[in-house]
Amino acid sequence: MDRASFRCSYCGDAASEWDHLRPLVKDQKPTGYISEIQNLVPACGKCNQSKGNKEWRSWIRSDAPKSPKARGIRQLDRYIEKLDQYSQWMTPTKVDFEQLVGEEMWAQHWALWKETLDAMRRADAHARGIREKVAASLPVDPSQA
Ligand SMILES: [Zn+2]
Repeated sequence: MDRASFRCSYCGDAASEWDHLRPLVKDQKPTGYISEIQNLVPACGKCNQSKGNKEWRSWIRSDAPKSPKARGIRQLDRYIEKLDQYSQWMTPTKVDFEQLVGEEMWAQHWALWKETLDAMRRADAHARGIREKVAASLPVDPSQA
């Protein structure tokens, strides 16, 4: 495959990156799909950004900013048909993380995840307090200090 034939799977523009056809993360939780050839399609930057972790079939016809439909790409059915063929080519791996690592380890992971986010929020608020104190201690116009 040369550069010229490396086209976006969703709109046909020149592809510049790989997109996960089935998102790896949805609503901040892993979907179980992984990075593997059955789940990667060439995409252009516009489509990749616009699609994010949305389901491809509904996104491609949606009015999401920069979606193929929103950009007026013609013959969307052609891309949808090819994507359907591709998605039926091989069964994608879908990992059941909780079953694989066990309920307890999975629950610990999410507890740690929540603790980490909480600590980041506290650190951010703390840093804001420091910035406010520093700003209050400085003269309004440094040239008049
Ligand atoms: Zn595209």
